[in-house]
Amino acid sequence: MVEFTRSSALVRMKSQLKHILRCTLCGKEHPPDPFRLSCDQEHEPSLLRAVYSNKKLEVKQNLPGLFRYMDWLPVHRYLDDVEGKPITYQSQNLAHHLGLERLFISFNGYWPERDGRLFSCSFKELEAFSVLARVPKNHLKTLVVASAGNTGRAFANVCSRLKIPLYLVIPEQNLSAIWSKDSFDSCVRLIAVAENSDYFDAIRLGKIISQFEGFFPEGGARNVARRDGMGLTVVDGTVTIGEIPDHYFQAVGSGTGGISAYEANLRFLADGRFGNKKMKLHLCQNIPFTPMTDAWKAGRREISSLSEIEAKERINQAAAKVLTNRNPAYSLAGGVYEALTDTQGEMYGVTNEESQKARVLFEQLEGIDICPASGVATAGLIQAVEAGRVGKKECILLNITSGGSQRMRQDYSLNYLKPDLVLTPQEIEPDLVARRLAQFQA
Ligand SMILES: *Cc1c(COP(=O)(O)O)cnc(C)c1O
Ligand SMILES: [Zn+2]
Repeated sequence: MVEFTRSSALVRMKSQLKHILRCTLCGKEHPPDPFRLSCDQEHEPSLLRAVYSNKKLEVKQNLPGLFRYMDWLPVHRYLDDVEGKPITYQSQNLAHHLGLERLFISFNGYWPERDGRLFSCSFKELEAFSVLARVPKNHLKTLVVASAGNTGRAFANVCSRLKIPLYLVIPEQNLSAIWSKDSFDSCVRLIAVAENSDYFDAIRLGKIISQFEGFFPEGGARNVARRDGMGLTVVDGTVTIGEIPDHYFQAVGSGTGGISAYEANLRFLADGRFGNKKMKLHLCQNIPFTPMTDAWKAGRREISSLSEIEAKERINQAAAKVLTNRNPAYSLAGGVYEALTDTQGEMYGVTNEESQKARVLFEQLEGIDICPASGVATAGLIQAVEAGRVGKKECILLNITSGGSQRMRQDYSLNYLKPDLVLTPQEIEPDLVARRLAQFQA
């Protein structure tokens, strides 16, 4: 990728570029280097945001799956063999039950009757397609992804299918999350962190591996391809409904999906054909692990840090493990705090029992199983209705971030990926990791 050293060169190039990367803090514009994750100016942490030259979204019906929205993805190619995209439909039964007239569901997962074809059963698959399409074809370095489960399953599925090398790092206790209806290709290597480790430990180990020669990190919330992939739930929702919704409900862990939803909203404002609303973000976390909810309710931009022991204890109690990110994209420029502020958003705390009840209710009324995190989002919506925070006639988009995994088990027998290597949290130290990796590569 060419580095533009003079901004005038960038200005000249811009009209030909599909997108640029703009710093949400200082406004500096960068060329669309697929590996750039942050601004090069000396300032506090900030997200870059992709700015697309095509302000008016042109849906390309002939492209596979979610690549129909390629205009607003930071990619220059699409991946073949892709079927999945978010689906949006208007709820009848749950809407009626809650007394809502315009409740729309963004369903991400497997639901054959409605053409839900994200076979890893979560909206992380949207991110995987977008991130992988952004990497130049035949790139020599190996992608490293650390995950609590769903991101790992999504990347393992997509990389395996497209034969893209991947090192996946996950906590050992989440190993059962890495499954596929197809068998796994050997291009996917799995490294587990043992004992009472969590997502945080996996991220730590993933970071170390990604800094070794021959590897590169996915980048998490800072990767614009990740965010714009996840934001397709709002893109599909808005295009299907025909307008920007008034309210958006989602369960959050890293907060990336919330930021993505907000950024998609901003793009539709610039597009101009879908109304001029800023949709209110309603973001939900699973009690007792609610760092963003606590900070937001206290009016704080900073997340209070819990002791290691305290954090792990709380994480163990939360049913929705995918929501237990200890270092969310909350405080930094362009992050969750700013998105909530700009949309006068709300944050919710949902217990395991509330989530479980909401899951049962959703399955009874809508006819498909949903995961604990989606139960958290649905329970957040129920809380909002009870508190009168949403109007009966308002347009609401509920993001079911993951559904249909039980249905998947009925329709297919699943394959589970076994770890190539298991490390303890104490072994997460560069020299040691390098030695253990060399051992297993030999
Ligand atoms: C990752 C995940 C979330 C949370 O999304 P963030 O973008 O990390 O906040 C919610 N639901 C499911 C099913 C997920 O996998
Ligand atoms: Zn900057």
